This record gives sequence, C-alpha cells and structure tokens, in this order.
Amino acid sequence: MFENLSERLERSFKILKGEGKITEINVAETLKDVRRALLEADVNFKVAKQFTDEVKSKAMGQNVINAIKPGELMVKIVHDELARLMGGETAQVNLSGNPTVILMSGLQGSGKTTFSGKLARKLKSEQGKRPLLVACDVYRPAAIDQLKVLAEQINVPVYTEDGNKNPVEIAENAIRHAKANHLDLVIIDTAGRLAVDEQMMQEIAAIKKAVKPQETLFVVDSMTGQDAVNTAKEFNDRLDFDGVVLTKLDGDTRGGAALSIRTVVTKPIKFVGTGEKLDALDLFHPSRMADRILG
Ligand code: GDP
Repeated sequence: MFENLSERLERSFKILKGEGKITEINVAETLKDVRRALLEADVNFKVAKQFTDEVKSKAMGQNVINAIKPGELMVKIVHDELARLMGGETAQVNLSGNPTVILMSGLQGSGKTTFSGKLARKLKSEQGKRPLLVACDVYRPAAIDQLKVLAEQINVPVYTEDGNKNPVEIAENAIRHAKANHLDLVIIDTAGRLAVDEQMMQEIAAIKKAVKPQETLFVVDSMTGQDAVNTAKEFNDRLDFDGVVLTKLDGDTRGGAALSIRTVVTKPIKFVGTGEKLDALDLFHPSRMADRILG
C-alpha cells in the first residue's frame, strides 16, 4: 500500500526511537522525506526548501528529540506550519460597493468562466445578491455563449455587446446597466490566452483601472503544478490581485500549488473549484489543504 507522508514520518521516528538515537541529524534526514513529498505534491522547489528549513528550527524549538511521541509531534508541526503558511483562517470576499464589482483574471482554460457562474450562484443563493455576469472576451464568441449557457442555468442576466471590441467600454457600460437595473453584484469575465501575453495583460490592467473592482481574483488550474506559480507571479506583478481561486481540485493533484502560490505572491487563496458543475465550489480551508498535501 502507498504510505502517505504522515505515516512515513511516524514510522521513521518510531524506528529511530526504538534504537534510542534521535538526533538533530536524524531530524534533518527525516525532513528530506518531507521535502521530497512536497515536491511530489507539486510544491515549488524553493518554497519546499524554505519550508523544511523553517520546520527544522520549529522541531528543535519544540524539542522533538526528547518527545514521547516524536513522530506524532513532527507530523503536527509540519501540518500546522503548512496551514499557517497557507493563511491560517478562511479568507473572505469584499462585498462592499454598490454594485460590488468582481473582476476575473487568469489564463484560458483555467476555469474563469465556470467560476464566474459558480460565484454568481453562490452569492445569489447564500447572500441574496442580484448578480450580473459580464462577457468581456471580445475575441472568442464561444466564450460569450458559454457564459450565457451558465447564466441561464442559474437564472442570472448576462451583459454582452455584440460588435464592440473594447472590453473597457463593455465593463463600464455593464456597471451602468447594473445600477439602472438594481443589480448589486457585477462579475466580469475577461479574455484569457494560453500563455501570458502583453496585450492580455494591458487589457485586463486597463479594465481594472477603469472599473476599480472591490475584488480582482486570479483563477488558476491546480493541475498545472509548478507553472501555476510563475503565472500567478506574472499576473500579480501586473494586477496586484486580491485573491486566488484554485480550480480542478477534484482531480488527483495534491494541491501543492496552494502552498507555492501563497508563499510566492502572498495573496490569500479564497475559493477552490471541485468539479465542472455549478455547485462544485468551496471556500478555501488551509487546514484541509494541509491534510491533503500530507496525503
Ligand atoms: P476559462 O477559459 O478560464 O473561462 O475556463 P472554463 O471556465 O471554460 O473552464 C475550462 C474547462 O475546465 C471546462 O471544461 C470546465 O468545465 C472545466 N472546469 C472548470 N472548473 C473546474 C473544476 O473545478 N473541476 C473540473 N474538473 N473541471 C473544471
């Protein structure tokens, strides 16, 4: 059977304790296991190293060497440190403003359009919000149709402007439309590319500047592993986004991208997508994600 990291840590400390020789060197050796497991879970290399260095000094501080159950204590230290680094508490979305404006960013295929529908559905049913979904992808008519289909499923209006190729204008007009129609939540879905490109960045930065959203969210596919960190960094450098949405966590990824992104861009992860259906959305829970990374 596949042994997860918690079991592996407990087992190696048990053997060492049986031999009566837990030393600082043993702790360091065991932490190599932790680092390997983090890399397997797609955590960025630098982040994994920084993490294990930190855990080592915590383990020494809490005297793992003389603990009655050193393996269990070590697992707890690793778990708590993972959860702490990923944010400790569950993050909130800023729903101030009338209307509240939420801007989506991310690469094509990351799950932006799906998440826009999921968020509209959630805030409508749980908070009584009256959402307007805005299609700002002026390059792909299929993306606009996709948003219309989602919107119909949750009975939410969509704002589009056929023929207008200026996404900043569309976004501004959409907010005017929302105000005139007493809609208090505007979710703007933007165009994505398969890789980060200058035109896309300029365009979304211009939308952000014009509409001053309460929240700019960066949507990223958790299956993209190490690449997720680089993409997050490029978007954050240009957009200074407020939070991250990690999608496709229903796949077999261990979710290491959560730790890497949080450590590198220091922005909270707010939501996780757990399926293609519109109700497959969860708030991000750092402690649960730590469990998942530990396996
Ligand atoms: P966009 O190009 O960023 O707008 O991405 P889409 O919303 O079109 O999503 C791309 C694909 O990923 C679609 O087939 C979605 O159904 C799928 N998708 C989005 N979120 C999730 C998720 O959380 N889990 C799974 N399994 N699929 C998802």
